[in-house]
Amino acid sequence: MAKTVLITGGSRGIGRATAVLFAAKGWNIAFSFVGNQESADETCAMCERVGVTGNVISRKCDVRNEEDVIALFQSARDRFGSIDGVVNNAGIVAPQSTLADMDIERMKTVFDTNVLGAYLVAREAARALHSGTAIVNVSSVAAKLGSPGEYIDYAGSKGAIDTLTKGLAKELGPMGIRVNAVRPGIIETDIHASGGRPERIAELGPVCPLGRAGEPEEVAQSIFWLISNDASYVTGSIVDVSGGR
Ligand code: NAP
Repeated sequence: MAKTVLITGGSRGIGRATAVLFAAKGWNIAFSFVGNQESADETCAMCERVGVTGNVISRKCDVRNEEDVIALFQSARDRFGSIDGVVNNAGIVAPQSTLADMDIERMKTVFDTNVLGAYLVAREAARALHSGTAIVNVSSVAAKLGSPGEYIDYAGSKGAIDTLTKGLAKELGPMGIRVNAVRPGIIETDIHASGGRPERIAELGPVCPLGRAGEPEEVAQSIFWLISNDASYVTGSIVDVSGGR
């Protein structure tokens, strides 16, 4: 029987590339989006093109909303039975700013989405998963760089994801559930434009040790490996997928 992965934020970017890779590997996909129905439909079409017909469902879910998150997990179980992997991916940045200029509403939105939202998703994953399954949290190299002058709220929110990964791996290890994280660097997605700086990719890609920005598909490969049984003895690990940044 095909395994099932649940991915938050699968309508675009890293989440979409991850959904398509899992579909190509024969998995069922349950993914969420928050507002972009058109992109979600496109991800569904891409998954169906490379996978098995009927292998994908999408659901609108704001990770900041507990009821939405619970319903997302329930819809995956209703459609596919058990859940075998969770990719805790949905996340945002806000426009570039120093901390001195950040207003509280912006900081609340970033922390509610990237920390509270990710913790809610991880909590539901801990309730839903069974022995032999895995969670991958999507952090960022911002967690270790600090993102001065850009968004240190975002960097701090990703530091919380690294800590979540370490703690939850220890809680769930005895149950046979692995928990790891990836820390992407500069990856070619919409997130930079959402933060008001689409040119960030062209500026920062060439100064990475590998000399370029990464593709979402390159992050998806690491996520797939960490969820798969090929990583059966890996837990509590944080894998940088950052071109050396
Ligand atoms: P993206 O292209 O902007 O896509 C963001 C995804 O998250 C979309 O599917 C979006 O849904 C969803 N989303 C946003 N707010 C949400 C909410 N409140 N509830 C549920 N879903 C929500 O971003 P990305 O670059 O792929 O980023 C994915 C993850 O990688 C994030 O956690 C990000 O912090 C991390 N990351 C990215 C980079 C990079 O350079 N791209 C680097 C390091 C880490 P809609 O389509 O409906 O808006």
